[in-house]
Amino acid sequence: MFRTLISGLLFSAGALMAQPALAENCLKVTLTGTQGGPPVFQGQAGAGTLVQYGSEENKCNDMRLQFDTGRGTTQRLSQAGVPVGKIDAIFLSHLHSDHTEGLADMMQLRWHFNSGGPKVDLVCSEETKSPLGFSLSCERFATHIGDALINSGEIAQRLAENKKRLPGGPAELINVKDFKPQDEAQEVWSKGDVTVSAIRSTHIPGHASYRVDTPAGSVVIGGDAGNDVRKPPRETSTSGQVEKLAQGADIVVHSTIHPVMGPDGGTGFPPPIYFRQSNATDLGHLARRAGVKHLMLTHLIPPVGAPRQGPYKLPEGALTNEDYTGAVAESGFDGTTIVGQDLVSLTLPVKN
Ligand SMILES: [Zn+2]
Repeated sequence: MFRTLISGLLFSAGALMAQPALAENCLKVTLTGTQGGPPVFQGQAGAGTLVQYGSEENKCNDMRLQFDTGRGTTQRLSQAGVPVGKIDAIFLSHLHSDHTEGLADMMQLRWHFNSGGPKVDLVCSEETKSPLGFSLSCERFATHIGDALINSGEIAQRLAENKKRLPGGPAELINVKDFKPQDEAQEVWSKGDVTVSAIRSTHIPGHASYRVDTPAGSVVIGGDAGNDVRKPPRETSTSGQVEKLAQGADIVVHSTIHPVMGPDGGTGFPPPIYFRQSNATDLGHLARRAGVKHLMLTHLIPPVGAPRQGPYKLPEGALTNEDYTGAVAESGFDGTTIVGQDLVSLTLPVKN
């Protein structure tokens, strides 16, 4: 009996070797920060999304892409088990500080312990002129990422302690790959069977939205995209370009504002700032029209449970998860809606 069992096992092992079953790959999307805008509420990290892709054995962790790097991204990545030195590429939707201020911290840490490389790709829009007379430049942001620490003498101090560190500070570890955002999707980064494309979207000059395609599924990261028509009358608050990018995507991760922050909500929130974000109901419409399966709301304005958004008090009190899912449900979207919290994740393929 025992021998039969052993030979049976050997036989099946042999059969497996003769015809190896393809190991399944997976795509994991984790919200590294869900705070909307510059305020901070109960320790929430600033905007960011981690996208991991790889084999199921390796928990989808063969490739790690970070989209936006708000305050506290390093902490959330450490909780997600991803050291900053292991990030393959970083993508910025736009240069608002609540989406970028964590990068200095990430790069300084990388410089301390990973000065030997590899460099990290920083994918972002090329310098964009604002009609207000200045320009926004991701390249300048990257070049000057360590300036405060260089000028304070901290970089010189650390170099004296360890000469293997790069003499120019953390900026030397960034490889800027900028692109001119267009109204049609263009490929901006790829590695192996993963490609990332970008499309122009409206928020502040240089805003871009991204899509990651992998054999295990696809995810769109809308960032703070809004409609090209900046205020009503218009068909929707969402971006037509993001909707194009999201056609047939499995997941859309998108910054969200609740209709309560609108001009009729009594919060006093500035209407131009309300109108440049996508509201939760319109995001549901976008997801439904684009055939998206999962909508992950992030960068929530206001945060669930918060009595105010920065200085703007909510007259009816804090919102609940159901206030957000209810606002999406009004659109008739029948996929999954995830109301973002830091470190919430979704893995494809979805296992029951
Ligand atoms: Zn924002």
